[in-house]
Amino acid sequence: MQVHIEQVLLEVIEGDITRWQGDYIVNAANSGLYGGGGVDGAIHRAGGRRIAEECAAIRQRQGKVLPGDAALTSAGSLPFRGIIHTVGPIWKGGSANETAVLAECYSTSLNLACAEGAQSIAFPNIGTGVYNFPKSAAAQIAVTSVVRFIREKTAANMPLKRIAFVCFEPDNAAIYRELLESCR
Ligand code: ADP
Repeated sequence: MQVHIEQVLLEVIEGDITRWQGDYIVNAANSGLYGGGGVDGAIHRAGGRRIAEECAAIRQRQGKVLPGDAALTSAGSLPFRGIIHTVGPIWKGGSANETAVLAECYSTSLNLACAEGAQSIAFPNIGTGVYNFPKSAAAQIAVTSVVRFIREKTAANMPLKRIAFVCFEPDNAAIYRELLESCR
């Protein structure tokens, strides 16, 4: 499933983000960049120890990464230009600024990717695993944030040509397909 917004191709892909092909993948990390379960675990396993070592260096340099913020490492042995580790909000019922923080994860990651001159980037469904953000609302925020980002960028400041939402779970993929259909 694909749709164009301005000159940027948005696509929904079902599967494992470590198998995607492109410049940068986003990791749904924790504040300490310690690696963990879910997509974080999959990325660290597939990319090898170097990613954890670079995460430790970031931790030593700047301390925790705050929710909504992001940090950049290499991709270790994975074939990407780098990994953008962003920290999603832990869902606490919706009154703890979770929506704004999740939107920030997308805009911060996209800004970082653009600063690196990325032509393509893939996002997992940030926050919807152990952090428990409701899937449908999270997808809506993801698509809205990405579309807004594209529309607000001028062509000269926009290296990105392809943005993928990589959904590990079929129900998330279905939600994203429906949302992108409505962007046509
Ligand atoms: P969070 O802590 O932000 O909730 P999780 O990793 O627990 O992060 O879950 C985020 C999303 O990543 C979930 O939808 C989960 O199904 C998905 N996920 C898990 N493994 C992978 C993977 N290998 N590739 C892409 N997405 C994945």
